[in-house]
Amino acid sequence: MDIANPSEEHAMLREMVRNWTNEFVEPQALEHDRDEKFNLDLLRSMGELGLLGISAPEEFGGAGLDATACAIVHEELSASDPGFALAYLAHSMLFVNNLAFNGSEEQKARILPKVCSGEWIGAMAMSEPDAGTDVLGLSSTAVLQDDGTWCLNGRKMWITNGCIDETGTPADVVWVYAKTGVDEKGRVQMSTFLVEAGTEGYAVGQKIYDKTGMRASNTAELVFDNCMIPAHNLVGQPGQSLLHMMANLEIERLTLAAMALGIARRSLDDMNRYATERTAFKSQIRDFGQMQRYIGESWAKYRSMRAYIYDTANSMTLGTPGHRLDSDGVKLFATTAAKEIADAAMQVMGGYGYVGEYTVERLWRDSKLLEIGGGTLESHQKNITRDLSKDPEAINR
Ligand SMILES: Cc1cc2nc3c(=O)[nH]c(=O)nc-3n(C[C@H](O)[C@H](O)[C@H](O)COP(=O)(O)OP(=O)(O)OC[C@H]3O[C@@H](n4cnc5c(N)ncnc54)[C@H](O)[C@@H]3O)c2cc1C
Repeated sequence: MDIANPSEEHAMLREMVRNWTNEFVEPQALEHDRDEKFNLDLLRSMGELGLLGISAPEEFGGAGLDATACAIVHEELSASDPGFALAYLAHSMLFVNNLAFNGSEEQKARILPKVCSGEWIGAMAMSEPDAGTDVLGLSSTAVLQDDGTWCLNGRKMWITNGCIDETGTPADVVWVYAKTGVDEKGRVQMSTFLVEAGTEGYAVGQKIYDKTGMRASNTAELVFDNCMIPAHNLVGQPGQSLLHMMANLEIERLTLAAMALGIARRSLDDMNRYATERTAFKSQIRDFGQMQRYIGESWAKYRSMRAYIYDTANSMTLGTPGHRLDSDGVKLFATTAAKEIADAAMQVMGGYGYVGEYTVERLWRDSKLLEIGGGTLESHQKNITRDLSKDPEAINR
């Protein structure tokens, strides 16, 4: 069995996404990175392919596919344009998948068809200017009003798809976490809200420019200023955000790791071809032992990432937490491996590797974000060590 294509349907999905990526994503990648421009129309067009709601139920316009399918799409997109893949991830995993598994039937019926078709673009807002890793330290608040609405105040930072164009148009719908009080033990209580464009008090603070990488995705600060959220846009019950986060962070980390795999595969492919074409001292550069070290080690790392990522994907059940050890593990290992492989590719390609036309320069810059977004390397180290103290037998199973 091919672990990365465990069924014929998975292999067909990979082939379809790879062909579509070569035809439509690859030609625009360099320009959108250089101009720091998000290709909104291209993302919307993925609705026609059934990819925007890849894991959402078919009855609401989704494709109803599994975690392995999610990993395949992210790997394929990222092998060409990680910035575009990140915008896709923010929409399809951070918003659509979250709603599909945590929303009420009414919320799903009302919103999922719009985000699965691409009519609406979604985002997820957890991070704030003063709190990222320390989720419970966030300061956005939502206060229940007498009429049942919630008054949301606060700022969210680094939100992918937070704005969807150059004029500061906000995402059509945002999955927002805010403090709503403390429980009987004095612990911070967080609740989840759906904030729709057009709601008074919801605006883009700024589009963030000059990012190192992922420049083809829009990153924005969002401002909520006495933003009144109707009762029907509270997700679940007050205080349930940690449950929502737990389930969704696993697929987020798996698909970020799959993006790293796409970067690694493309970097390896490019360096391997270049090492044949380029000659120096009357030899192909692949004949030099030092070049062989870059290529050989990159191959072994790439194959290890691929095996660990798809082993984790194949055992993951979407919407059911319980894979934190490995979703942290794949992201911890694969993101740094991708950065190292992109770096090796740049070294093998010499001066050419250092300029945009040769792609690995962009992949090298894009790879760094994967060590930060969706949980920093340090947070994965912390989680893994904590989980192994609770379940030491995981090592021997
Ligand atoms: C391009 C981009 C896109 C993003 N997209 C989104 C998005 O769509 N939605 C969203 O909500 N967020 C998004 N983020 C935010 C991202 O998830 C955070 O940047 C990340 O979680 C880290 O938070 P921070 O930047 O506040 O760093 P901090 O949490 O302040 O961390 C700073 C440093 O301290 C370390 N540190 C913190 N706590 C500990 C600890 N207990 N032990 C050891 N070390 C620790 C961290 O590992 C890190 O090295 C995005 C960020 C970027 C750059």
